[in-house]
Amino acid sequence: MTHSTTEYAVQVRNIHKSFDRNEVLKGVSFSAPRGSVTSIIGASGSGKSTLLRCINHLVVPDEGEIIIGDDVLRSRRKRDGKMVTQDTRLLENVRTRLGMVFQNFHLWAHRTVLQNVTEGPVHVKGMPKRAAADVALALLNKVGLADKAQAYPDQLSGGQQQRVAIARALAMEPDVLLFDEPTSALDPEMVNEVLRVIRDLAREGRTMVLVTHEMQFAREVSNHTMFMHNGIIAEQGDPARMFDTPQTDRLKQFLRPLQ
Ligand code: ADP
Ligand code: MG
Repeated sequence: MTHSTTEYAVQVRNIHKSFDRNEVLKGVSFSAPRGSVTSIIGASGSGKSTLLRCINHLVVPDEGEIIIGDDVLRSRRKRDGKMVTQDTRLLENVRTRLGMVFQNFHLWAHRTVLQNVTEGPVHVKGMPKRAAADVALALLNKVGLADKAQAYPDQLSGGQQQRVAIARALAMEPDVLLFDEPTSALDPEMVNEVLRVIRDLAREGRTMVLVTHEMQFAREVSNHTMFMHNGIIAEQGDPARMFDTPQTDRLKQFLRPLQ
């Protein structure tokens, strides 16, 4: 845990990002209070993943700041025009406090489930292997996979792999969990087992930023919802209010197929 003085776990300030001439984020700002769940919805290509990746500088913004607790991540432009993180050591530190779960799990194929979960604590945090294994087993138990510790990722279903990915993220004891469409690559029957785990994390009061197409789920677990359209937050607010009485035509249009 950090001993931060701010009430926000994440602050995103005026983020711009272009890929070549394609301006994908056009000045995005939001703040996620500690213990809150923020969901990001919007059509494919609206910039949701890019925004999430900017939070941990997997994508380095062209402009704007990311503030994690009290730490300010800034970017700078190199001579060749490429954007890089201003302070690499700060970024390394900040990244240990940000857990990320991807659509396609991103597990290490040649390591067991247990090794996937202990890797970060052992190699990044320097935790003794025994202690890391104990923590990992407890987390695997929490996500319902204690019996799969010695399996390899390709021996698991998609839903199981994603639950391992969540356990792996939790093993670093992150201050914030970032989820990028964690159920989009799953067969329908596996969606719920993953949502259940995420719902439990929300109940524990974990700070989460979640990109999702599961509207019902977003409505149920999040404190705040943001609707992205063409690189801006076109509408945001209380999830029930957003889904019941969308204000903008864009959001009305986006939600129409669900009604
Ligand atoms: P979403 O997650 O909402 O579907 P993305 O953030 O993935 O949207 O993408 C937004 C736009 O940015 C798309 O037009 C996509 O093609 C483009 N884009 C995303 N990442 C890259 C990249 N690494 N290089 C070039 N274009 C990218
Ligand atoms: Mg995406």
